[in-house]
Amino acid sequence: MVKAQFVWGILLGAVLILSALYLLFLFLPAPVPALVGQYFSPAELERARRYQQTVRLLGLAAYLTKAGLLWWLWWSGQGASMARLVLKWSGHRYCLALALFFGGIWLLLRLAELPFTFSSGFVVQHRWGFSTQGLLSWWLDYLKGSGLDLLFSGIGTLLLFWSTARWPTGWWAAAGLFLAAWMVIETMLWPVFVAPLFNRFEPVADGPIKDMVVRLAGRAGMEVEEVLVMDASRRTTKANAYFAGLGGTKRIVLYDTLLKNYPPEEIEAVVAHEIAHWARGHIVRSLVWGIAGGFALFGALYAVLRISAPGEALRGGPYAPHILIIIWLFFHLLSFLALPVQNSLSRQLEREADRVALELTGNIPAMVQLHVDLARCNLQDVAPAPFVEWLTYSHPAPWRRIEAALKAW
Ligand SMILES: [Zn+2]
Repeated sequence: MVKAQFVWGILLGAVLILSALYLLFLFLPAPVPALVGQYFSPAELERARRYQQTVRLLGLAAYLTKAGLLWWLWWSGQGASMARLVLKWSGHRYCLALALFFGGIWLLLRLAELPFTFSSGFVVQHRWGFSTQGLLSWWLDYLKGSGLDLLFSGIGTLLLFWSTARWPTGWWAAAGLFLAAWMVIETMLWPVFVAPLFNRFEPVADGPIKDMVVRLAGRAGMEVEEVLVMDASRRTTKANAYFAGLGGTKRIVLYDTLLKNYPPEEIEAVVAHEIAHWARGHIVRSLVWGIAGGFALFGALYAVLRISAPGEALRGGPYAPHILIIIWLFFHLLSFLALPVQNSLSRQLEREADRVALELTGNIPAMVQLHVDLARCNLQDVAPAPFVEWLTYSHPAPWRRIEAALKAW
C-alpha cells in the first residue's frame, strides 16, 4: 500500500504542479512577439486573452472538480461502500450491480461538471457574442451528447470488466485491442452517424468553391470524394473547417460561417490545409499513435492496479464494481499528463499541413491573412505563454503560423 500511495502521490503531484503552472502562465502577462503588433491592436489582444482565460479557467475547474471527486470516492472508501450497497440492492447479481454502479458514478461526475460545462458552453458564448443558440437547443445538444457518452462508455466499461474475468493477467492487452478496434470504427463511422445528429451537412454546390477544391486536390495528386458544408451558424459565429473519416467516409467539412464571411483566397487556404492533412495521411498517423498510446495506458493501468488493489488484481475473476473509480481516476490523471505529448504530435501535423497547403496554393499573403482573421474572429490568444502552448495547444499559436507562412517567402 505504501508503494501505491507513492505512485498515486506522484501522479497527483504532477497534475497539481502542471495545473498551478498552467494557471500562473495563463494570467501572467506573456511577452508579445514584435510581429504580432503589425496585425493586431493591443485592445484586440487583450480582449482575446480575457476570453481565453475565462474559457480555460472553467475547463481547468471542471477537470480538477472531477479529479477531486474521484480521488475522494476512492481514498475515503466511500466508493467501495457505495458499491457494496449496490451489490446488496441488486441481490448480488454482478452485471446488474456493475451497470447500476457505473450509471450512478457517471451521473455524479456529469452533475459535478455541469455548472462549468454550462458556463463555458452557453453563458460565456453568449456573453462574448459567439452563440446563436437558444437555451432549449443547447440542452438538447447536451442531452444528446450525454446520451452517446453514457452508451459508449457504458459498453466500454462492461467490456473491460468482462475482460478482467476472462483474462485475469492479460486483460490490459485485450482492452488495448478493443480500444484500437473502437478507434478505427469510430473514426470511420463518426462522420456518417454521429456528426449528423448535431448538424446538417450538404455537398458544396457546383461553382467556384467546388472548382477550387478539385483543382487543389488535383495538385496534391488525389481525388477528394466529398466536400461538405456544415450549418455551424445554428450554434456559433466562429469559423472553422475539418477533415474526418476513414476509407469511404473521408470528407472535408467547411463551416457555413467560413464560406459566408471569408474571401475566396482565404477559403482556398483553409481547403488546402485540410487537403494537406488528407494527402499526408494524418488521420491514419494519429490513429496509429492513439492505438500505441492506448496499449501503453492499459498496460500502465494494470501495473498500477496490481499495487493499488492487489486483492482484486491478483485474485482473478471480474474486478469488484468500485474498481471502476480507480480506473477512471487513473485515466483522468493520465489524460492531463499526456497532454504535452499528444499536443506536440498534433502541432507537428498542423505545421506540416500549413507547409503543404502553402505549396498547393502558393499564396502566402492569403495564408497570413487567414490566420489573422481566424484568430481575430474566434478570439484566439495570438501569442500565449510558451508553457500554455506546450501543454494545451493542438495547433501552433497563431503568431507562429503567421511567422512560418512569412518565412516561406
Ligand atoms: Zn489542421
